[in-house]
Amino acid sequence: MDQLILIIEDNEQNMYLMTFLLEKNGYKVNQARTGKEGIRLALEVQPDAILLDIQLPELDGYGVAKALRNNHALKQVPIIAVTSYAMVGDKEQILAAGATGYIEKPINPNTFIQQLQEYLPPLPDNGRT
Ligand code: MN
Repeated sequence: MDQLILIIEDNEQNMYLMTFLLEKNGYKVNQARTGKEGIRLALEVQPDAILLDIQLPELDGYGVAKALRNNHALKQVPIIAVTSYAMVGDKEQILAAGATGYIEKPINPNTFIQQLQEYLPPLPDNGRT
């Protein structure tokens, strides 16, 4: 079964790029463009991992990560923050808020999938090494 990745990101360029790379590599993708929509969708679809932008409308990435970790059904899901390289302090803060790890912006198309896979649970059939 394909793994499902939920992307919570309000920047269309980043959303497009991450979606393109994930689908090209056999993942299913759900998209949310605000923090609240992201939480709602996460509860609904129970994704295998969540890619989370920090600066989001309605509720920022810190708030989203905290809300997800407070929800029993989503306690274990890998949350990978997508953080701007320049934002010193973001990484520590988002990890403290409950994120599993982070990937730096700008997204590098050559390494993005590999970076993500470090945080994903292994596939049941060990098909991907
Ligand atoms: Mn943003």
